[in-house]
Amino acid sequence: MVAKSGSDSENTTYRTAIIPVTLSGASYRLAHDSCHSAALLWNQGVDWVHAQWKAERSPSKYDIQSFLNSLPLQDRPLHTHTTEIIAHDLDEAIATSRTNHKNGMKVRAPWVKKNYRPLSFSKGYGWRISKNQLHLSLGRGRPRIDLAVPTVLDSTTNKKVDPDLWGEMQLCWDQDHRRFSLHIPYQTVRESSHGNAITAIDEGIINSMALATWVDDKTVDVTIVNGREARAIKRQRNKAVCQLQRKISRCKNGSRKHRRLVMAKKKVQGKAKLMLRDFDHQVSRKAANHVLAHKTDRLVPGDVRGIEKHTKAKGRISRHGRQQLSQWSRGRQERYLSEKTGLDLDLLNESGSTKTCPACLTRNRPSGRHYRCKNPICGFTCHRDAVGAINILQKAIYGEYVPIRPDTKVRVTYLRAVERWSPDQRKAHHLVQCRKARALSSAQNRALSEASQISKPKLANSSTSTDSSVLD
Ligand SMILES: [Zn+2]
Repeated sequence: MVAKSGSDSENTTYRTAIIPVTLSGASYRLAHDSCHSAALLWNQGVDWVHAQWKAERSPSKYDIQSFLNSLPLQDRPLHTHTTEIIAHDLDEAIATSRTNHKNGMKVRAPWVKKNYRPLSFSKGYGWRISKNQLHLSLGRGRPRIDLAVPTVLDSTTNKKVDPDLWGEMQLCWDQDHRRFSLHIPYQTVRESSHGNAITAIDEGIINSMALATWVDDKTVDVTIVNGREARAIKRQRNKAVCQLQRKISRCKNGSRKHRRLVMAKKKVQGKAKLMLRDFDHQVSRKAANHVLAHKTDRLVPGDVRGIEKHTKAKGRISRHGRQQLSQWSRGRQERYLSEKTGLDLDLLNESGSTKTCPACLTRNRPSGRHYRCKNPICGFTCHRDAVGAINILQKAIYGEYVPIRPDTKVRVTYLRAVERWSPDQRKAHHLVQCRKARALSSAQNRALSEASQISKPKLANSSTSTDSSVLD
């Protein structure tokens, strides 16, 4: 799905809220048919563009638009703006493929025949609110899609966003959850961090992020965000998918049972996907709070991009470890953090950062989550991930590992990334879940329960504990 982001000025930006919607029978069928027609229009556009290229003409986006608008009315049962947006999307896709080709990637111009496409509705024309209902127009003289006005919450302030601030929305079919959802971009205030501090980030699987910033000459603040919830979600999903896959492999391709099992698998995967996205937002929010509180203007994460490559090296890491690494959503967490703080990431080679002692630069092999320096004169002890973050911080400031002063105070804060919902969100979720549960047939329920459904992680408040270790 397309998440549109951009900015009009320094202080405003756009975010996209994704809201599952329940449509009435007639609206549902209408939405289904329209998504299909939109895809057919796209396909016609693709064919036409390819024909133009063969004739050595290069059509602009307005040429594509006027071609689509010249098609007979029964071929485009959509709002004119929706058709226009399809033309512009096609032009954009062609431009993207050209840029990627220039950058040496193996790509083709759009050619795949689509079966389903999201519907776009422009503000004021495509969508309109009246009498507490949201109307999505399919053009003059045609029935429209009506639904209850959704509640959009600003993810920063958690306040309701006025529909005046909504932009061009999209009605998308969510394949994993087998339901429609509205993607509503809204204008919001951009958060940004101003100051002159440097924050280093050490990323890991067990502790998603450890952030270190100097408060003054003698104190370094370390925030460690625990990633246990993500491990639990992934482990349960992997297990459920594995069991279903085993069953799928035993039944005939295309049979009713096969179809049901595939659907159950998609459901499990879709649910885990949403939970993991939420988790990444929790991690990056907690990290962003640290960054904003310390007035950082330079973010330096350790560069771990190479690690994923070890997934292919034979015998390097265990099978289990390789699966963990390839499912590590570090890139998305970094992107979210960058969006939440308005800072670019300045990657730094982190080799040896977790092994080197910050106080005497002796190399130790840490075992467990605690770091203990084996140098008898030093004897530095600290949380293992705090060590990595402090070393990266020193390297970011001085260009190499420089020992910290022996009287440095390391203040460590532990945070757990767990989901916390606003009452409105919980209510909305509950509504959708209840309807979904009722809609499920008993056969689907059986298939789901066989696949040991993913259970929600505990909704406890984030537990915070602070401890500090002082160097001798
Ligand atoms: Zn040491």
